[in-house]
Amino acid sequence: MITLKNADQIAKMRRAGHLLDEVLTQVCAAVAPGVTTKQLDHLAEKLIRQAGAKPSFLGYQGFPASLCTSVDSIVVHGFPDNHPLREGSIVGLDCGLILDGWQSDMARTVCVGNVSAQAKRLVEVTKQCFFEGLAFCKVGYRLGDVSNAIERCAHDAGYSVVRALCGHGIGRAMHEDPEVPNFGEAGHGVRLRPGMTLAIEPMINEGGWEVDIDGWHVVTEDGSLSAHYENTVLITAGEPEILSMRS
Ligand code: MG
Ligand code: MG
Repeated sequence: MITLKNADQIAKMRRAGHLLDEVLTQVCAAVAPGVTTKQLDHLAEKLIRQAGAKPSFLGYQGFPASLCTSVDSIVVHGFPDNHPLREGSIVGLDCGLILDGWQSDMARTVCVGNVSAQAKRLVEVTKQCFFEGLAFCKVGYRLGDVSNAIERCAHDAGYSVVRALCGHGIGRAMHEDPEVPNFGEAGHGVRLRPGMTLAIEPMINEGGWEVDIDGWHVVTEDGSLSAHYENTVLITAGEPEILSMRS
């Protein structure tokens, strides 16, 4: 069931989203060669708790951390560990929090030091995929229009879209209806309505779309790089609002 949020609920989700943006911006700024993903996780958890919020990932279906740290060919859900990040890697940082009972979810992929032009392009196109999808987050369009725009952007750049995982509705729970795939047919699916809140999160592979999944572990089957970009988005009567970005 898709829940539409009222003005009061939206205000709370906006506060959660803006706080998450503050947190993840600081965590992204801490990325550097030699830093461990565990240090990034501890920073995220500290900042979330200091602000009076709760990390939503920690303990979620047994997930061991407040931050997902997905290096290079890891698509999503990477566990923070004690390995220092290496110059030239890319790392997906996915974080979520609960403030006053309401959730926010966002992800960025960050370059570690100097990276190859190819890796940089993948990171940039993945972000672009999100914004191409966002352009269809308006009344009058359907979910398939959003999904299709993301897919087209990835394919036009010569990349592929992860099919095994997708975005989702979000609200009191981290994962609500509807599912938001990163591929699909324009003109199909649920009609977008004001008050819908969606976590839109392209996961884009440099090589093939196939992934190997083993529990939380998700990697590209061909070992190619993968990038991830996510925001929590509100559908309004006009332009969509990115709840997880302070303007
Ligand atoms: Mg996320
Ligand atoms: Mg998500």
